[in-house]
Amino acid sequence: MTVEDQKSYVFQAKIDEQLPNVLSGNGIKIQVEKDGKVTELIDAMTGAAVGALGWGDPEVHKIMSEAATVTSYSYPAYIGNKHAEALAKFYIDNSPKGAFAGALWCGSGSESNENALKLVRQYHLEKGNIKKTKFISRTTSYHGFTIGALSISSNTRAKNFKDILLPESQCLKMPVCYEYRNKKKTESTAEYVQRLLDNLEEMILAEDPDTIAAVIVETLPGSSLGTAPPPAGYLPGIRALCNKYDVLFMLDEVMCGTGRCNPNGGLNCWENFLTVEQGPDIQTVGKTLGSGYVSIAGILISPKVRNTFLKGSGKVFGAHTYSGHAFNCLVALKVQERIKELKLTSNIFKMGNLLGEKLTESLKDSPLVGDVRGIGGFWSVELVKNKDTKESFPLPLDVCHHLQDICFDNGLTVMGNQCCNVDSGDHVSLAPSFIITEENVEQIVQIFTKSVNDLQKELIA
Ligand code: PLP
Repeated sequence: MTVEDQKSYVFQAKIDEQLPNVLSGNGIKIQVEKDGKVTELIDAMTGAAVGALGWGDPEVHKIMSEAATVTSYSYPAYIGNKHAEALAKFYIDNSPKGAFAGALWCGSGSESNENALKLVRQYHLEKGNIKKTKFISRTTSYHGFTIGALSISSNTRAKNFKDILLPESQCLKMPVCYEYRNKKKTESTAEYVQRLLDNLEEMILAEDPDTIAAVIVETLPGSSLGTAPPPAGYLPGIRALCNKYDVLFMLDEVMCGTGRCNPNGGLNCWENFLTVEQGPDIQTVGKTLGSGYVSIAGILISPKVRNTFLKGSGKVFGAHTYSGHAFNCLVALKVQERIKELKLTSNIFKMGNLLGEKLTESLKDSPLVGDVRGIGGFWSVELVKNKDTKESFPLPLDVCHHLQDICFDNGLTVMGNQCCNVDSGDHVSLAPSFIITEENVEQIVQIFTKSVNDLQKELIA
């Protein structure tokens, strides 16, 4: 094949595949061109839970053109910029008082998690704990596509690269918390949580607590586990063990954070489950931070972490060429200010929960739907072959992506996820824009339910 014969010059999921192209976005809708045909879709997934403010917002376009005129590039290792500072201050001020004391802005969630691992290491070196080199994350987890982030992930994406990742002896995996499948019939939720916590403590003790650097958990596991909310006591229990063994508690809120699932009109998903005293030592964020308008993500640190560096060498090695890019930080700040001004975080929490309720009701008799779960603006539907036994569909059937395609043809974006279902079932997620109205909720539920019914007819045929 010559270059001229190629269907596509950009490669993403496949070499030489022409994906549908987005043409424009307007509020909760996107216009997409597929095989020469233009269609309009309700964007119920906003990419990968990215969009917060709706697409094509004229105010943001104005902000972007102004930002272009008042910002300039600087190399973050030796010249800062006030916009990166202002964005950090915004995040700190809009989180519970005392939760965070500093931020490092990165270009992607993967880069943030990658740098967070290095930050964990530097923290322990500052304290003289040189043996603390091991990370504990979870089975069925996803933290990004760089080597470090993949090493603490545990899904097919990570498994494809297992021979070139950090050693497994350094990246330990505790069982993920997945009540729908892994809680025994004979167990109460509290007993299940205790079993997981006992398991973690045994792992720490067996490895030697002096070697454990951090425990890393995605607060509401998005792409890896179909938004399975942590049951009461689970995250506080992990925090208590981290305190007991001088281990850093790190939360990945790249997908579930920055306003998508906050019950108080604020930013962090963990506020559903943890007090500020129990909050993370380190947290990564991304996606809705720039709401799809700019590429920005980041790491937040607690006062404890900051003070340790201050008392020590004070040096942090982390900046990349584009870290804290002034234009991106200014646009992200203005986007976040606008979300706050319009009270959109409260709106998505309310409308998202309504979406969850309505989906649960509308899909309750579908033989394909095993579970509907989520919080605020992030929901998933787990598809099963047998509702009573919870038997999954065979992986090669790829039903979640098939449902994604059916939804697409019916005018709705959702995200199927099978890449992580080594030990979990197919699920399909929805994470709409924060501007969603009650009428939009109805439309989404109606199209999604029709699509599930269409899938069922195809499976029977
Ligand atoms: N962490 C979580 C929980 C994610 O869901 C993702 C992406 O989906 C990442 C990290 C990686 O973020 P990015 O794709 O921006 O590198």
